Amino acid sequence: MIFKDKLSIVTGASQGIGKAIAELLAQEGAQVILWDIQEDKLQEVVDGINKQGGQAAYFRVDVASFPQVEATVKEILDDYGQIDHLVNNAGITRDNLLMRMSESEWDQVLSVNLKGVFNCCKAVIRAMMSRRQGRIVNIASVVGLMGNVGQTNYAASKAGVIGFTKSLAREVASRNITVNAIAPGYILTPMTEALSEQTRQMFLNLIPLRRFGTPEDVARAVRFLLSEDAAYITGQVLGVNGGMYM
Ligand code: NAP
Repeated sequence: MIFKDKLSIVTGASQGIGKAIAELLAQEGAQVILWDIQEDKLQEVVDGINKQGGQAAYFRVDVASFPQVEATVKEILDDYGQIDHLVNNAGITRDNLLMRMSESEWDQVLSVNLKGVFNCCKAVIRAMMSRRQGRIVNIASVVGLMGNVGQTNYAASKAGVIGFTKSLAREVASRNITVNAIAPGYILTPMTEALSEQTRQMFLNLIPLRRFGTPEDVARAVRFLLSEDAAYITGQVLGVNGGMYM
C-alpha cells in the first residue's frame, strides 16, 4: 500500500489504460478520482474498485473544457483538501492521411490530447505548488517520437505532450513536483481494437518482445513514476513499448 493517504486523479479512466491505472493506484491505497466523458462506464469501474475495498469516486469531465476541469478541481480540493497525483491519460484518435484530414479531425485531437493536458495541469498546479509536493504523469505515445502514417494530428499532439512535460518539469522542480511522460507502444485496449488483423500483424513484427502491451504494463510504469522510488526522476519520457522504439 504505497499510496495510502494520497489522492490521485486519473483522466480517461472508464476503460483501457486509464481504468487499469485507476485500479492499480486504488490497490496501492490511493483515494482515486476517475474522470471521463462516459458516465455509465465510470460508475461501473468505481463500483468495482469500491467492492474490492478501494476508495474511488468519479466526475464526468471533458478534459478539453477548461471551465469544467477548473470547477472539478475546485470541488475536489474543497472535499478532499489535496491532490497528490495527476495522471493525464485521456486521449483520442481521428486518423486520416493529411490530404484527407479535416480541420475538425485536427482540432478534436489537439483539443483533447494536448489542450486537455494543459487544462488539467494548469488547474492542479497551484495547489501542488503551495503544498510543495506533487507528481504528474502524462500519457504520450511512441507515435509522438517516431511518427505514423495517418496520424499527423495524433503524433503532433503527443509530441506536444512531451515538450510540455519537459517544460513544466523545469518550471516546478524547485517545488518538489515531478512531471514525466510515458510513451506506450501498441497496447491492447478499445482504442486499438478497431485496427485490422493485417495492421496488427505489421505492428507485431516491429516489437522485439513479440507481444502487444497490456494496460497493466502501462499502469505499473505509472505506479513507479508516482512512487517515492522515482523521486529523483523528472522531465523524462519512459517508453513502454516492448522495444518497438529505442
Ligand atoms: P481508450 O480505450 O479509448 O480510453 C480513453 C478514454 O478517454 C475513453 O474512455 C475516452 O472516452 C476518454 N476520453 C476521450 N475524450 C475525453 C475527454 N475529452 N475528456 C475525458 N475523457 C475522454 O484509450 P486507451 O488505449 O486506453 O488510451 C489511453 C491513453 O494512452 C491515450 O492518451 C492514448 O493516446 C494513449 N496511448 C494508447 C496506446 C494504445 O496502443 N492503446 C498507445 C500509445 C498511447 P471515449 O471512448 O468516449 O472517447
